[in-house]
Amino acid sequence: MEFSLTDPVFAGKIFWLIGLITWLAIRYRPNRTSRKNKISVSARSPIENFSMVVSFTGLGIVPLIWIFTGEVSSLNHATNWIITLIGLILFTWSLYLFRVTHKALGKMWSVSLDLREGHKLVTSGIYEKVRHPMYSAFWLWAVAQPFLLSNWIAGFSGIVGFGTLFFLRVRREEAMMEGEFGQQYRDYCQRTKRVIPEIY
Ligand code: SAH
Repeated sequence: MEFSLTDPVFAGKIFWLIGLITWLAIRYRPNRTSRKNKISVSARSPIENFSMVVSFTGLGIVPLIWIFTGEVSSLNHATNWIITLIGLILFTWSLYLFRVTHKALGKMWSVSLDLREGHKLVTSGIYEKVRHPMYSAFWLWAVAQPFLLSNWIAGFSGIVGFGTLFFLRVRREEAMMEGEFGQQYRDYCQRTKRVIPEIY
């Protein structure tokens, strides 16, 4: 990494790193408390574990390798402050949404497809607008990444990584929720979209 605060390439890397640290801070407490709440139903599978590794690699590992080692520098591209600032706005929006969704889900949150003992369906607040707002937040992160990281691989690895997790998971998550909550969940699906209000 070359240190120059006036360089949008460097600034993009710093913004991305600050974003990652902020995200880890938002996740810290939910991660600890979720371990204490017993799991009653689990739909984890090898596909689910595989997709979490792919997502983690694309949103975290690949960018970190590029930021700290510069590999693969032949795939770097030019950037400017407008592009970097768009990335900053998108990443900030993503982190705000993470915070809101964690607050709304509280003890119902799991890193994977698990239902907790006494699980309640959350349908209010942000969950009134879409049924997967935490995945909306991950999409925003994935889309922010190519604006912040001026390398074709490090930039787009997040979209590939999270896209893999999202499309392998979302139907199975909905099937699990429908299995648990039945008509209540079907009604909820009727009045909401998945990640973008009114659209998808
Ligand atoms: N898909 C949601 C939640 C992601 S966390 C979102 O994007 O916001 C994944 C876990 O959250 C799942 O294992 C499930 O147990 C739980 N979950 C998902 N939707 C929920 C809801 N509406 N109410 C309560 N728990 C939910």
